[in-house]
Amino acid sequence: MKKRWLSKGTVGYFILVVGCFAIAMTAGWSSFANRVDGDAYDLMFRLNPPQAASSRAIVLAIDDPTLNAMGGMRNIRTILAEALEKLAPARPKLVAIDLILADKQDPAEDARLDNAFQNTLNLILATELSDGAWENPQPRFTKWAVALGHALADQQSRDGVTRQIPLEAAGNHERRWALALEAFRIDRSVKRIVESLDDLDVGGVIIPARYAQGRPLRIRFVRDGIPRLSLKELLETPALVERFRNKAVFLGVYSNNAARDRVVTPFGDRGVAGVEVNAQAFDTLERGDFFVDASISTVLAFCTVVAVLAGLIFAYLSGWLAYLLGAALLLTAHMVPFILFHRQIVFPYFAPLSSAWLTVAGAAIYQHFVVRRELRQSEDERTRYRQAIDFFKHEMRTPLTAIQGSSELIGRYNLNDDKRKQIANMINSESKRLARMIQTFLDIERLSDGQMELKSEPIDGRDLVQSCLERVRPLAERKSIALHLDGELEGAMRGDRELMEYAIYNLLTNAVKYSLPNTEILVASRPDGQQLRLSIKDQGMGMDDKELKKIFQRFYRTKRAEASGEIGSGIGLSIVDQIVQHHGGHMEVTSEPGKGSCFTVIAPALQYVKLKGEL
Ligand code: ADP
Repeated sequence: MKKRWLSKGTVGYFILVVGCFAIAMTAGWSSFANRVDGDAYDLMFRLNPPQAASSRAIVLAIDDPTLNAMGGMRNIRTILAEALEKLAPARPKLVAIDLILADKQDPAEDARLDNAFQNTLNLILATELSDGAWENPQPRFTKWAVALGHALADQQSRDGVTRQIPLEAAGNHERRWALALEAFRIDRSVKRIVESLDDLDVGGVIIPARYAQGRPLRIRFVRDGIPRLSLKELLETPALVERFRNKAVFLGVYSNNAARDRVVTPFGDRGVAGVEVNAQAFDTLERGDFFVDASISTVLAFCTVVAVLAGLIFAYLSGWLAYLLGAALLLTAHMVPFILFHRQIVFPYFAPLSSAWLTVAGAAIYQHFVVRRELRQSEDERTRYRQAIDFFKHEMRTPLTAIQGSSELIGRYNLNDDKRKQIANMINSESKRLARMIQTFLDIERLSDGQMELKSEPIDGRDLVQSCLERVRPLAERKSIALHLDGELEGAMRGDRELMEYAIYNLLTNAVKYSLPNTEILVASRPDGQQLRLSIKDQGMGMDDKELKKIFQRFYRTKRAEASGEIGSGIGLSIVDQIVQHHGGHMEVTSEPGKGSCFTVIAPALQYVKLKGEL
């Protein structure tokens, strides 16, 4: 069987796979997907914790015991000044303060803090975005700072888990680097951060942070946190100051009650303070332990490949092999984010997964049902074809046996002229019948291949119908079926007379075959606008709507027809339909079980006047 590349089934399958893919992609950008991606990230994060290394960072925490002992948040500037004074002997490499000092407060307090800042080496102060504008520390404080850095939280996170921070942020046309990045630059004694579209260069350390994505830095949180000391402890045991020698100190509030900036880490640790997040980001930068987010185009390309593979697998393979490969594809889609994560590439989890599941499931279900239906259809067709062949074998055997027997008779016996003539006539008519049968077979093939060339001659409706009626009359009489004309036979068409006769004769023999004795058949030929309508109406067994849909299929016979005992091959109507279509026309059939059928050939009419002139 020839297979057309763009069959209806192929197009339907293609649309289904593309549809599944489109749904998967749309879902991949939903907030639910974002949540799943976040959870998957956290899981992968826990499975791939960063290598433990001694940290350059240390947190000096203004925690609840400190605040309780020193008068609470309203005393924060004095507390800060005291902390810096206590730190000074150890000469830390830098001190980054995660507190906003934007407003003026008690002059004496501010003066003390001013003084402490003046004596602090490499002071970095925090700034905050408020309604799109930077809320900088008081100028009297800023002047002692070597840098101002923002301490913005993870703006991408929708579930409260901090996974990354923006390395740069802009407000009222002024750009600020993150506090942690500034701390890193100063720790490395680098003057300037060199930026490109894809990364930042801090003294030769390349930080992959794409401009297009808002330059995020995925923080590779260290499981046990950054070393931390409570300010209260330091005040009580001044010798502990040695722990801060030459370190990058992050100073900030670490309180359960006072501060709002508590976050959750991918480890699931709750209540981690903002100052710790900054120290962790600094630590990630120090270790050069960077994650890169896969670009949207890469993700899209991967999902497309998955969808295409799913489509191809189920289009070209079937059975367990297709399901096995489909399962392998699903497994790959599950594994890829994990494998890439291990290689420091963050790949979304939901989009490839949904694209794999939806396309594999869609393709598999479609193929399962379609292939099954096609299989059933082709099995049905094979059975019908076998039956038809049996019928032809049977039909051919009859004339062949007659010819064979008769020729033997002539050869063996001395027959008189009359007998001889009778036998010769029989041989002649039987061989003609055989030839017709073979011709029919060949015509079917040639018609369906489109090889057959149609003659184009004027055909008069009356002539056509009458000659067919003459041929069918003996059959009808045998069953006492009356053949009547339904009005005057009128109209004409252009085409191949022989084929049209074949078609009408076939419809007439069917009408006789599938009618009970003592019924009648009405035949009409009448022009109807631009068309000629040739109809044959019987009072026979009829068909229901389901059967009607199939009667033009090759080798199809209704159960009723089979049960009637009438011999048939189920190809006559398929040829009739093709002949009519080749003439630019179509068939119209109405039928009701037990009541009868009406088959109408509708073909372009030839103007009668013109026909007359041509005749
Ligand atoms: P067959 O050799 O079986 O007659 P056809 O292709 O001519 O093959 O017809 C296909 C089937 O359509 C028949 O087997 C029969 O079931 C149904 N059919 C055709 N003509 C009639 C009719 N006039 N009345 C009822 N059923 C019909």
